[in-house]
Amino acid sequence: MIKITDIKVSTVLLPFRFAFKHSLASRSFSTNVIVKVKMEDTATGATAFGLGESVPRDYVTGETCQTAIAEIKGNFAPRFLNQFLDQDRKPTESVSRLIEEVAASLNVYGRRVGASFCALELALLDAAAKIEGVSISQWLAAKNGRNAVESIDYGGVIPFGKRKVLAALLYFYKFYGYKTVKLKVGDDPELDLFTVRKARELLGASTVIRVDANCAWDFDSTFEFSQKTQGYNIASIEQPVPFDRLDELVELTKVLKEEIVVDESLCTVQEAQDLARKKACGGFNIRISKVGGLLAAQKIIDIAHQHGISIHLGAQVGESGILTAAGRALACANQKFENYEGAANFFLLKEDLTRENMTAGFGGRGKMPDGKGIGVTVNEQNLNRFEVNLQSADASSAAVEATGRSLHV
Ligand SMILES: [Mg+2]
Repeated sequence: MIKITDIKVSTVLLPFRFAFKHSLASRSFSTNVIVKVKMEDTATGATAFGLGESVPRDYVTGETCQTAIAEIKGNFAPRFLNQFLDQDRKPTESVSRLIEEVAASLNVYGRRVGASFCALELALLDAAAKIEGVSISQWLAAKNGRNAVESIDYGGVIPFGKRKVLAALLYFYKFYGYKTVKLKVGDDPELDLFTVRKARELLGASTVIRVDANCAWDFDSTFEFSQKTQGYNIASIEQPVPFDRLDELVELTKVLKEEIVVDESLCTVQEAQDLARKKACGGFNIRISKVGGLLAAQKIIDIAHQHGISIHLGAQVGESGILTAAGRALACANQKFENYEGAANFFLLKEDLTRENMTAGFGGRGKMPDGKGIGVTVNEQNLNRFEVNLQSADASSAAVEATGRSLHV
């Protein structure tokens, strides 16, 4: 029988090559939670290790590395540790049933604890899929009644920055063949307008341009932005208003021709249902880390399909190759998304945690790695090197956010 014999939780601090800034935060490194799960076949003694990651962010779900680790150690892990997988089912099916049971009993899909649950959920699925000898993308695709595709094409994201650097980044995406670029806006109306104008001028008519205001506006300023940028063909406006202003989101969805995408408003499966029912958006930005893992993300995708809502794969800034691979597995297992974000690993992180390079290539192309489970193997040396104790990790994160330091890119 297969038993979950060990669950190890740690925090890593991954340094960036440069600081990344948007309207809610600026950071020059990322603190992430890593979970390692060991499963053992009690009959044969064979073992498998699963790896999971999450990126808790106070300004997204209200979680920090500290709260996430307390939640995992105190509430989630004890529900899985020393449990046996149901031997009448395949390991992936058995472990996903167990995950769903625990999630239901602790109301994981109705509370903003996604970044706490995600790392553990991914590690459990990764270990079970490795034992079974399948990739997560194939397994998820089969559950969806389809075959996994082999690759997806990512869009680019432009953070806040100096005007000079903006042009350099736009040219980079243009010559790298990206078909979609999302601009971070909301800092200052004049700069926003400049950014949009410059992006359309340099990228040409065929590139899809989106903007993300990260909660910076209200109804009136969003409406005004839309009016002023009518000539530039903006496809979507992401999270224009603070996360709890659903009435304003409903109105904006009704009156604007740009698609309203929710991100900070969408952190749980329950919130996806509420947003869909209230018609508060046209698109969901789904980041595995904030919503509680792959199974939660799949539920949100299903809700989107039922309500004619478009889906966008999002990413936390600072994800290592583990979360990038998990996001890609989800994307490859489903119908085409409206847009995919992330996979800037090489450009953002000084060093990654995975042996596989998950960075998107020319045209934003990201191929699914061949490996079983999530598909990546950890670089143990880097994992050990970047591991930090929790107190110092949270203290440094808080310091960065408090100073609002912004080297810009
Ligand atoms: Mg966003």
